[in-house]
Amino acid sequence: MPNVRNGLASEDRPDLASMDLAELEAALEGRGHPRFRARQIFTWIYAKGVTDFEKMTDLSRQLRADLAGYFRVGTPVLVHKDTSSDGTVKFLLSLEDGRHIESVFIPDVRRHTFCISTQVGCAMKCGFCLTGKMGLVRNLTSGEIAGQVRVLAGELGLRDSKFNIVLMGMGEPLHNYDNTMKALRMLNDEHGLAVSPKRITLSTVGVVPGLERLAAEPLMPNLAISLHATTEDQRDALVPVNRKYGLEDILDAARKFPIKRRSRITFEYVLLRGVNDTPEDARRLVRLLGDIRCKVNLIPLNEAAGIAFQRPPDDRVNAFAEILAGARLTVSVRKSRGRDIRAACGQLIVEGATPSPAQKAAALM
Ligand code: SAH
Repeated sequence: MPNVRNGLASEDRPDLASMDLAELEAALEGRGHPRFRARQIFTWIYAKGVTDFEKMTDLSRQLRADLAGYFRVGTPVLVHKDTSSDGTVKFLLSLEDGRHIESVFIPDVRRHTFCISTQVGCAMKCGFCLTGKMGLVRNLTSGEIAGQVRVLAGELGLRDSKFNIVLMGMGEPLHNYDNTMKALRMLNDEHGLAVSPKRITLSTVGVVPGLERLAAEPLMPNLAISLHATTEDQRDALVPVNRKYGLEDILDAARKFPIKRRSRITFEYVLLRGVNDTPEDARRLVRLLGDIRCKVNLIPLNEAAGIAFQRPPDDRVNAFAEILAGARLTVSVRKSRGRDIRAACGQLIVEGATPSPAQKAAALM
């Protein structure tokens, strides 16, 4: 059994929090430990929120010492919390390289929701979204994606509760496909938080190859597609990636998507005053979605400095919704939560920060 003093330098220790159970088993075996220990460690990290090996009391002293010398449990560090008047809480988290991300807790009477990020920044540059202004800084690791849920559940005392997860924070999940799906598998693992895929919603701008891969996944989250426009030209202007994966291609992929019984695809549609909120837009939307089992979630724009669009007045939003409802589409208008703390959709942005040594050290714990 190697001595801790012979362990690896902290930055060279593999991150157990970025491993799924099978990888964790292999890592333990690689150091001569029995595979079944992996399940215990997984339970400590996810179900009990314990990341300090010393506190994993059902492991032998020797094993704990070996783990501490050769592995780490990378966990986002809470830097700051903002609570909205409506109860929404925005968490600013620091990562091991000093980058920052935001995650949001949205309380509700029936079920609480965690809104988590999949990238630092985003490459999609949708014209009305602040995160797009940052550009893509980097992908999050699977451990950083799942780690947001660990940290929020721990901070809020919800580790033993059922909650929803929406991948609607910073980033485009299908642009970080492998890490995102691996994080969902880790969160779903019965030895950890055991979050059912029925409680998870992946929201995408419509990266068609990603949608095609997702269609074949064994672990299938609910799907939300950010449509926002009803003609190719209009969508080109609002969502630049439409030039690569156009409206028609996305709708084709949606038609082919295996939708579970009693389930539907959600189409998100940000309403921009005088841009895509006319009755003609609503009628075109009805025609486009007519043959897809779906519901529409209208999101009146959350305005922000630096965004050159406006939120339509409520009567305009209602008129749009009524045209959809009149054509028997299921439609909802998204409540804007946490706008006073800039935690609402499209308002997540953090400037690239250079890490201080103290931050680095804290993030490595
Ligand atoms: N990249 C994913 C997740 C983004 S956030 C996607 O595009 O779906 C989730 C939703 O918030 C998306 O539908 C996004 O278009 C929307 N959104 C972005 N900026 C917004 C804003 N300023 N106001 C309202 N909704 C916005």
